[in-house]
Amino acid sequence: MTSKNPTDGFRDLAGRAPDEATFFWSGGPIEVAERTWFQSQFSGCTGFDTDEGVVLVDTGMERLAPALAAKLREKTRAPVHTAIYTHGHVDHAHGLAAFLAPGQPAPRVVAHRAVPERFARYARTARHNAAVNARQFGGTVSDATSPAYATFAKPPTAPTQLYDDRLELRVGGVRFELHHARGETDDHTWVWCPDRGVLCTGDLFIWVMPNAGNPQKAQRYPWDWARALRAMAAQEPATLCPGHGGPVVRDAAKVRHMLLSTAEFLEALVERTLAVLEDASPPHVDVVRRVEIPPHDLPWLRPLYDEAEFLVRSVIRYFGGWWSGRPSELKPAPRAAVAQEMASLAGGARALAARAEAIAQRGDLALACHVADYALEADPADEVVRDAVVALYERRAEGESSLMARNLFRSAAAYAREGRPFA
Ligand SMILES: [Zn+2]
Repeated sequence: MTSKNPTDGFRDLAGRAPDEATFFWSGGPIEVAERTWFQSQFSGCTGFDTDEGVVLVDTGMERLAPALAAKLREKTRAPVHTAIYTHGHVDHAHGLAAFLAPGQPAPRVVAHRAVPERFARYARTARHNAAVNARQFGGTVSDATSPAYATFAKPPTAPTQLYDDRLELRVGGVRFELHHARGETDDHTWVWCPDRGVLCTGDLFIWVMPNAGNPQKAQRYPWDWARALRAMAAQEPATLCPGHGGPVVRDAAKVRHMLLSTAEFLEALVERTLAVLEDASPPHVDVVRRVEIPPHDLPWLRPLYDEAEFLVRSVIRYFGGWWSGRPSELKPAPRAAVAQEMASLAGGARALAARAEAIAQRGDLALACHVADYALEADPADEVVRDAVVALYERRAEGESSLMARNLFRSAAAYAREGRPFA
């Protein structure tokens, strides 16, 4: 069965239930500083109570926001004075209405200038993005009509104030510094409240390896991400409130370690990838093969959502072009025609499928999948071929730790089950 739940399949490597140091922790309110509370329902939200009202950093998903707001409202009933969207994703910018006090005036809503452009992009590519999302969670384009994947809409409450690089706000005498950074997205804001020692990272920190390589999504920026983490650490925050997972409260040494170790990991990956590119600019897949992945055994660098190989790809994509470097792939023949040739050489699509199974038996699932793709593309109507390809990709999915890899391989199995090549 294909997965319909975005959180399905996301597990701790040790099989542990989500705690505060994991992406999927939900809980709170936790007092993280004087008159300041953090809570999470899938995604996090920080509420700063001031003498002029509440400053909210992020607002959660529209569907989960009532529960998220109820947590904060255990602590303060003050109206929302200002809401800050750390970026234009559905799990951060869509829940504001649930936080508003009855009859209160409309709050100021602040975001980076690129946020409205993101929404415009989503409006132009809504069905494409629904398909991308369906695949990311193990389905196919046939599943993309599910409302679960129509998540690229404008937020119900649009930003009322945009900024470029940096913005300082003062609400009820409390200072908030907003800093723009490109990381997972080009529209990210991290917020530093010096008066309370609280750093709100948005999705620049989410308790797993940075989501900087996502195979199907727009360009990510691991080098800018690292720079932002260093700039955050330079503020010497006592408390970190992340985009997902729980906060670290009044532990400056730990916060510093989390920020700087993540920056170092990203910087090393970028440098090592560029070093390989500089050495004869090999085809993309060979760059991936040659980059030695830096150590990443810290709890917040676990490759449970994204993974290092995909981050390397992200660097290659930015610094290189779209061409893989393989001559035949510059202006390729249709895949079905290539697959037909392979099948006729091998003695048919079933022979290719059998060969893929044999390769898988000896443990080389990556190689087996190459052969299996040709088998399916040569004869997608053959149920024997389909079943073999489904079984192979399901097996491959099981062995992956990152949600991206696991679910895209599950998606490949789902496509094979539908009798068509992954597309
Ligand atoms: Zn998020």
